[in-house]
Amino acid sequence: MRLHVVTFGCQMSVADGEELAAPLQGRGFTAVAEPETADAIILNTCTVRQHAEDKALSLIGRLRGWKEKDPERVLIVAGCAAERLGPWISKRFPYVDLVVGAKSIEDYPKIVEEALGARFDALAETGQTFKGESRSVDHPTGWMSPFSAFVTIMRGCNYSCSYCIVPAVRGRELYRSWETILAEVSAKTALGVKEITLLGQTVNSWHALDGKRQVRFPELLTRLGKIDSLERLRFESPHPHFVDDDLIQAMATTKNVCEQLHLPIQSGSDRLLKIMRRNYDSEGIIEKTNRLRAAIPRVEVSTDIIVGFPSETDDDFTRTLDLVRRLRPSWSYTFKYSPREGTESAGMEDDVPDEVKEERLRRLNELCDALTEDALSKRIGKVVEVLDEQGGFGRTRDGFKVAWREPGPPGRTVKVRITGTSKRVLKGERDERA
Ligand code: SAH
Ligand code: SF4
Repeated sequence: MRLHVVTFGCQMSVADGEELAAPLQGRGFTAVAEPETADAIILNTCTVRQHAEDKALSLIGRLRGWKEKDPERVLIVAGCAAERLGPWISKRFPYVDLVVGAKSIEDYPKIVEEALGARFDALAETGQTFKGESRSVDHPTGWMSPFSAFVTIMRGCNYSCSYCIVPAVRGRELYRSWETILAEVSAKTALGVKEITLLGQTVNSWHALDGKRQVRFPELLTRLGKIDSLERLRFESPHPHFVDDDLIQAMATTKNVCEQLHLPIQSGSDRLLKIMRRNYDSEGIIEKTNRLRAAIPRVEVSTDIIVGFPSETDDDFTRTLDLVRRLRPSWSYTFKYSPREGTESAGMEDDVPDEVKEERLRRLNELCDALTEDALSKRIGKVVEVLDEQGGFGRTRDGFKVAWREPGPPGRTVKVRITGTSKRVLKGERDERA
């Protein structure tokens, strides 16, 4: 039996995809890359912007033929759009076997069991649940690289950024315990994983108890830093509010924490940041970045930016460009504002005309692309350290993708001399002296 998983959206969604696959793997399904040959498809949806949701819905529509070819096939629609539109999806696409929203991920193995009944092998549950705090490590990274794995440490979001639907579809914050995180990271490294990315919507707000003692995110980093076989530790997606001296200190002194920080600014206009309810201002971002760069000189910063938020003026947008110039992100994820039903900003007039949004996005991308190109070209002629994730393809500690010829077996950290760039990937040759 063959399973195909399609995931839209963020890294948290990708990690959820692994969990969603687990109960079917427990029934003996194995992964296939092509949907045509699959007996089951899990479509893990995103709803953070209308565009992401539309893409998922359009794919459900296109899968009708696949399902009709063999009604025994199983189509499961999961994730954030499934949470938002559940009953509507079931009605609109009656051939979908199971619609299960993001908030139900902990009950998902049970839901799958009920939905599939005896159709396949008896369920040998291998899925992780936060409630039971048991987590399988049988197939920690089967879907990506066997050497780089995600570990979800929290779900949901307690923030209320006025544009964002995530708190509505994922619910309030729920933290995994200190012990189970340590156990999962240790188990994964024991299976050969070299790089772990800790995941959460505001990952650095994570906290928990160690016995009676309150533990915060920076301490989790330093503790995981003690696992010798863990070569690299990353985390996504931190909220700027929780980037404090303790976190900077932990990043600077924990040798396996990579020199990379995602700092989503969203806007450079303090007026808009207030309306967005982001809990920081542009000077705060610069001040934090300066402290970070002073403590970790080689650190690279990446960011998320929204253009065309309601009432955004030319002056607001110019402030965003100014903040980007000061921040110098090596990577930027830029978005046109998309009103999401039920969010606070959906009640505001979406008054920036689409052509203005497009034009601002174009100008912002021009600036961000130039900064990325600049960061990439600075590496030409240099020797960088890369974790070989796929045999000749991997990433540097500071987050750049690298491809090189004549690779050895994957899973090793190698030195690559950078000779050029292509489509934002550094190209190079193995540095034989390493
Ligand atoms: N928790 C993360 C972000 C999750 S959503 C954080 O706070 O950084 C990922 C990104 O999508 C956001 O950073 C934002 O830039 C973008 N985004 C979220 N809602 C959006 C909307 N309604 N319109 C456009 N972009 C949006
Ligand atoms: Fe959305 Fe804000 Fe929460 Fe990030 S912090 S998930 S942008 S509400």
